[in-house]
Amino acid sequence: TIGAISLDSFGSMSAGTSSSGLFMKQPGRVGDSPLSGSGFYVDSDIGGAAATGLGEDLMKGILSYEIVRCMAEGLSPQEACDKTVYSFHDKLTKRYGKCGAMSLIAMNNKSEWGVATNVEFTFSVATTSEEPQIYLANMTKEKTTS
Ligand code: ASP
Repeated sequence: TIGAISLDSFGSMSAGTSSSGLFMKQPGRVGDSPLSGSGFYVDSDIGGAAATGLGEDLMKGILSYEIVRCMAEGLSPQEACDKTVYSFHDKLTKRYGKCGAMSLIAMNNKSEWGVATNVEFTFSVATTSEEPQIYLANMTKEKTTS
């Protein structure tokens, strides 16, 4: 899945995903990616979020919406991602003994961004003033530029 969040010069934001779904999925399966709130969510007055990972688990938490809701309460994108993703990961692990992969990106309407993952994933940040940067993030919250 590719997820993206953008902010234009008028302050308008958008978020979206493009996905082939999970490998070897059942015909007719609908994952999180096309579902607003699960795979992506955006509100130009606040910010947006997008997800990749095991859709069946992501959909249990409506995580993209939850991240935007946390940003509306005043959390930075990074704080919102950390709070949402890691508390949900802990909740699923306690309840089911395991939790599928989940990686979330977020950006607010001030173009501050954050990410959280319970695995490892790469993402890119592009602005009008800087060349796109590629980062690798992991569960220990390290972000390294490559
Ligand atoms: N989230 C997608 C799905 O479950 C898969 C992915 O992100 O790779 O369909």
